[in-house]
Amino acid sequence: MEIFLGWLGFSLLAGWIASNKGNSFWGYFLLSIFLSPLLGIIAALVSKSPETVNIEAAAKGKITETHRPCPFCAEPIRLAAKKCPHCQTELGDLPMPESEAAVLARYGINKNGNWYVVAGQSYASPEEAITEAKKL
Ligand SMILES: [Zn+2]
Repeated sequence: MEIFLGWLGFSLLAGWIASNKGNSFWGYFLLSIFLSPLLGIIAALVSKSPETVNIEAAAKGKITETHRPCPFCAEPIRLAAKKCPHCQTELGDLPMPESEAAVLARYGINKNGNWYVVAGQSYASPEEAITEAKKL
């Protein structure tokens, strides 16, 4: 019984960590329940928020006015594409990616060279900067 409660508790923790990062609570919760809470927590900890993925892609010049990387094969595809011409995956209605500038402006983050500056503090990764900006 205690093992069951611990399993459930740590699975909830994995879901909570994931949802704090903007990822799916249920996805990580169910992953933990069926595989292992430890695995779920590790996966949640190393997961990147959808925003971070967008920002990193934008920062690398992969998201442009007309194209973005396919979420499955990473080849550039047109923004409005419903099916990837490279890997043939049906994309349906992907949310429009925001440019790096738009996301940074929303959180009041300034970019200084390769640094992300929040309230006078510089961060190497956009994820850290967004985490800090959310605390303000
Ligand atoms: Zn593709």
